[in-house]
Amino acid sequence: MTRQRILRDGSAIRPYRLGMDRNVAIIGAGVSGLTCGIMLAEQGYRTAIFAQDIGQQTTSSVAAAVWFPYHVEPAERVIPLALETYQVLLDLAGVPDAGVSMIESRQFLRTGKIDIPDWAIPLGASVIPSEVERSLEPFESGFSLRTLLTDTTIYLDYLNARFRKAGGEIHASVRFETLEQVDPKFDLVINCAGIGARELVDDADLEPHRGQVAIVPKIEGLSCAIVSDDEPLMYVIPRANDCVFGGTNELSASLTADPATTSRIVTECSRVLNVEKPPVLAERVGLRPFRKSGVRIERGQLRDGRTVIHNYGHGGAGFTLSWGCAREVLQMAAL
Ligand SMILES: Cc1cc2nc3c(=O)[nH]c(=O)nc-3n(C[C@H](O)[C@H](O)[C@H](O)COP(=O)(O)OP(=O)(O)OC[C@H]3O[C@@H](n4cnc5c(N)ncnc54)[C@H](O)[C@@H]3O)c2cc1C
Repeated sequence: MTRQRILRDGSAIRPYRLGMDRNVAIIGAGVSGLTCGIMLAEQGYRTAIFAQDIGQQTTSSVAAAVWFPYHVEPAERVIPLALETYQVLLDLAGVPDAGVSMIESRQFLRTGKIDIPDWAIPLGASVIPSEVERSLEPFESGFSLRTLLTDTTIYLDYLNARFRKAGGEIHASVRFETLEQVDPKFDLVINCAGIGARELVDDADLEPHRGQVAIVPKIEGLSCAIVSDDEPLMYVIPRANDCVFGGTNELSASLTADPATTSRIVTECSRVLNVEKPPVLAERVGLRPFRKSGVRIERGQLRDGRTVIHNYGHGGAGFTLSWGCAREVLQMAAL
């Protein structure tokens, strides 16, 4: 991808604007809808976002979120999108107040030898020396990767502000039963409804893969993320003002936090870090939009003849894929 020159707030400098005569409605104000909104609005499309929930009510706000192509299919499709997003996030790490920063992520296995994925090698992934593994019970092998953390308590506000600055509008508390209900004045509809697409476009392939986390105070001296995705899933992600302890990944649509699960998460994370159990500031639950046949970025037609572009099904990697997917949506919008 050609790297774009960016302004101090992260917005792109572009030589011309494409979409002055199009009215675009985006359904969804999670990371997918906001990122697409920015791409389109900064190109001059008159863009409005409609969403039932916004900000800290969305699934996106439950993620920590670390760049890592986790729990999304198919690899040959998503890895290029993830690597493209990595480059954009790298630029955003230099933007004040975007909430994006570099972080070392240590990926571990409790049993067996971990393989460094091919895509991680050009990003400088390296095997973790055994003395580090031994100091962190109960791991047997691991690799370390310099990656990007998008602190969702800050980053979603940054996306929101950048979208509005580009002329975008956000309409909250709007729920659609079908995409045809979108006001006919919008000639292009973008579906970024996350797990909501299951009902909105009747996609039975989309499954809620529930994740529960506990938010705890900052852990003294902890500067890297620690992840083990063999059972039980365990991760610790230090953020600017707190720390995220996770987690779970199960087929369920329940949004109610389970206290026993929180207790199990806090016990396991504290054991790995070798710290006293911290107090729990908040429990959060989100539904990863996992699509069995893979992420859906696809142009089609609504029953009333209008063009629709679907962008959902990002599983456990919505942030990791966000800019690559939005760039594809922009290209499809221009067809
Ligand atoms: C615990 C947890 C940890 C995670 N960690 C990471 C991570 O580290 N890195 C990473 O990349 N990803 C991570 N993810 C995955 C990531 O959060 C999701 O892939 C991403 O949030 C999906 O974003 P989205 O914008 O597509 O959907 P959402 O954030 O769910 O947004 C969907 C939007 O559509 C709206 N909507 C839905 N249906 C309708 C309707 N019918 N009418 C109107 N509006 C509607 C909703 O109100 C909402 O505004 C994690 C997820 C969880 C749960």
